[in-house]
Amino acid sequence: MMKKISLIIPCYNEQEMIPIFFKTVEEVKKSLKNVSLEYLFIDDGSSDDTLSELNTLHSEHPDFVHFFSFSRNFGKEAALYCGLQKSSGDYVAIMDVDLQDPPEQLVSMLYGIQSEGFDIVGTRRTSRKGEPPIRSFFSNLFYKLINRISDTQMLPGVRDYRLMTRQVVNAILTVNEYNRFSKGIFSWVGFKTKYLEYENHDRVAGKTSWSFWKLFSYSLDGIVNFSDAPLSIASFTGIFSCIISLLGIIFIVGRKLILGGSVNGWASLVTVILFIGGIQLFCLGIVGKYIGNLYLETKNRPKYIVKEEK
Ligand code: UDP
Ligand code: MG
Repeated sequence: MMKKISLIIPCYNEQEMIPIFFKTVEEVKKSLKNVSLEYLFIDDGSSDDTLSELNTLHSEHPDFVHFFSFSRNFGKEAALYCGLQKSSGDYVAIMDVDLQDPPEQLVSMLYGIQSEGFDIVGTRRTSRKGEPPIRSFFSNLFYKLINRISDTQMLPGVRDYRLMTRQVVNAILTVNEYNRFSKGIFSWVGFKTKYLEYENHDRVAGKTSWSFWKLFSYSLDGIVNFSDAPLSIASFTGIFSCIISLLGIIFIVGRKLILGGSVNGWASLVTVILFIGGIQLFCLGIVGKYIGNLYLETKNRPKYIVKEEK
């Protein structure tokens, strides 16, 4: 029986990319043997003409091009979740619309699943050329940190671009938390995974919607979602400063008994108080971040709202 691939494509303000993307993937489709391909575009609340491009595409190919359009921008993670929920294929692929994910890899991905027995064939960028050095630096730092403090291992350079079996998709859908960090979730569910490697490509058109700060806060989400190690920072710094102050007390009392005289230096005292106050606020901030996550999680709001679908 002919198998079906559902291709999930999140789009946010990508009007000029959609026709180019579609044409390129249609070319690749010719070399995919014995499978049919279904497009599931997710318009993540774009403010440009993305939606009308999708409508045009759907009216030209109503049987295999479908889309879901959100009522506002919910973020790529929400778009991916929506795509996975709505997909019906035996295999499901996730691909960016900007062609940074080379579509021709679908062929070897399919081979990996059908002939080599993998459940997931993902992709890794081996180079980060074309990226600001500061971004690469922080990204490396993030992976070092997360792999040290979390049980869920995350390989650097792994993209969302992947092909997986229905079984894996169903497993991912059971992880229905509100704060989604897909890189972590993909790795957390397990399964036999293979990574194809390729050089970084630049975007074909349009521009990235990720600013440095957006990425930074995204990586903080990753840490908070997959590790509780930061919570121990409070206890450790607490114990540490207790030990230091105990030593200080012994020193001051000893000096008074042996040498006599008064203790001077309120300036240093103020500095120490401010320092301790700073540490306390910092730790409170960490705890606050986890409570904030808990708060959003318990509200149990929908992860996205669909306004139009075809
Ligand atoms: N995207 C999305 N919602 C957003 C931001 C991005 O659906 O809020 C989509 C975007 O249209 C693209 C993919 O996610 O298909 C990757 O985005 P981008 O190219 O901006 O990220 P980068 O490749 O720079 O990591
Ligand atoms: Mg991109």
